[in-house]
Amino acid sequence: MSRKISAHYVFPISSEPIKNGIIELDESGVIINIINPGKEIKEIAGVEFYSGILVPGFVNAHCHIELSHLKGVVVEKTGLHNFITQISRVRIADEETILKAINKADLEMKKNGIVAVGDISNKNHSIEIKKDSTIHYHTFIELFSLNPDKAKTVFESGKKLEKELRNNDLSCSIVPHTPYSVSKKLFQYIFNNATKNTNPVSMHNQESVSENELFINKTGSIFRSLSNMGVDFSHFKPTGKNSLESVIRNFKKENKCLLVHNTFSCAHDIAIANEYFDEVYWVFCSNANLYIENRLPDIPLFHKLKQKCTIGTDSLASNHQLSVLDELKTIQANFPQIPLTEILKWATLNGAEALNLSDKIGSFEIGKKPGINLISHINFEKMQLKPESKVKVLV
Ligand SMILES: [Zn+2]
Repeated sequence: MSRKISAHYVFPISSEPIKNGIIELDESGVIINIINPGKEIKEIAGVEFYSGILVPGFVNAHCHIELSHLKGVVVEKTGLHNFITQISRVRIADEETILKAINKADLEMKKNGIVAVGDISNKNHSIEIKKDSTIHYHTFIELFSLNPDKAKTVFESGKKLEKELRNNDLSCSIVPHTPYSVSKKLFQYIFNNATKNTNPVSMHNQESVSENELFINKTGSIFRSLSNMGVDFSHFKPTGKNSLESVIRNFKKENKCLLVHNTFSCAHDIAIANEYFDEVYWVFCSNANLYIENRLPDIPLFHKLKQKCTIGTDSLASNHQLSVLDELKTIQANFPQIPLTEILKWATLNGAEALNLSDKIGSFEIGKKPGINLISHINFEKMQLKPESKVKVLV
């Protein structure tokens, strides 16, 4: 039995919104037809009609599900350097607490209409839950160490985790944590391991102004905080350039690259990334940026420069919830000039493309199985989200 679902508007994402559009699905959730009723709405048998808009399942392009037990633990709005110090202090917990929190986070994302996640992992805690979840996870195995003497050991631990994930049929890639926490030697191991044109890679990028300061002249709060924590910067040489430009050649340019946060990225950084990478995706985690640095990236600049933007929730250590819709509401409230059609694309099709999933999800197109989310409480006059907008998973 097929199912026909309709609402005030259908947003296919890959094409213009359809007023009173109808999506027809087969019993497995694959789209078999998209109907534009045109001006004359005629009665079609068996249509379920909902108040609101229909959008494809969301893609959360950046999360750390294994940090879910740290919800509410870190003090808000104290800056990235303080966040790092606090996380390293509180991260340790018993395995049962960690696993319970991961399971709860997976269910929360499902309920919030998320169908795919780009998830950062340092450990293997999330494997069992990812394996059984209906959410598609791509795991970014994240490595860090500034000590070149430890590069080989750190890389080998990443390879071990990669093997474990692959043995469980979970897609993954080994990636650097940030420009400032990876030695040149470790970057080289990661570079040599990356297979061209296959898996996407990712890195936290310019989340704090002090990341650029460190690379420009070896000063700033990240340099001070990490030095106080005992991190040895004796091998670190400032480049006189912003962090991204300083490390970009440590990536294979053919691999899709997801740069995360970009709170202090400027037009020059955007130009550098576009010049270097075949495909670059910018991930915005607005609520986490407000949580940690109390500042948002220059999102309208990325929009103006027609960049491929995506949406991430980051972890529950730096967010109150794992909800792509809540991220969109923050963007809409702060930058109402960016159209809803555009930010919905960031939350669906762009994320699917970044994670190599756009043949299955990300848009309403015949043959895809993207899931269907109903967003209710829409401001139809301005075609915008409202603070009270809600998401409900229909398929
Ligand atoms: Zn992160």
